[in-house]
Amino acid sequence: METPELEKTKKELYSETSLCYQCGKCSAGCPVVEEMDVYPHIVIHLTSLGMEEKVFKTETPWICASCYACAVKCPNDIEIPNIMTRLKQMALERGLKPKRNDIYKFHKTFTDDILRRGKVHEFRIMIEYNLRLGKPFKNAMLGPKMLMKNKLHFTPPKAVKGFRNWIKQISPKD
Ligand code: SF4
Ligand code: SF4
Repeated sequence: METPELEKTKKELYSETSLCYQCGKCSAGCPVVEEMDVYPHIVIHLTSLGMEEKVFKTETPWICASCYACAVKCPNDIEIPNIMTRLKQMALERGLKPKRNDIYKFHKTFTDDILRRGKVHEFRIMIEYNLRLGKPFKNAMLGPKMLMKNKLHFTPPKAVKGFRNWIKQISPKD
């Protein structure tokens, strides 16, 4: 039995994805498409047909980096990264996780960090992800290169204004 919230989410997903006419521009512009097992435009198509159970068997929504490169290319202004996020939420609500454990661990590391301040702290994510994998020195050689290019900072960014209050308001009360 589906909750009213889930029914609402599904209706919103169908109505948004039904605008898709399968031009494939989203997949063509996706920087991580080679890591995906199903193209983003196929995920959108399956979702528009109400076949999200098939989508849950793919890794694509979990691989999606929410970079928005696809959304800016979409001629129908479909918010593809938001759809990927909602599909992940629906999967988690059903107790489904990606088959690859490293993908799930990265998802957890990323979302835990976002919940701290509304922005990611890449340095902390790298360290935490490696620790969760049990491989503390994985990709360690990338660190100095990113530091030299000023892409990695030891100190976390400032929290988004009002973010912590907002999180408190939406957190379930004990
Ligand atoms: S770019 Fe937009 S319209 Fe084209 S396939 Fe992707 S989601 Fe559909
Ligand atoms: S938001 Fe996701 S699907 Fe879209 S281009 Fe970025 S990684 Fe690919």
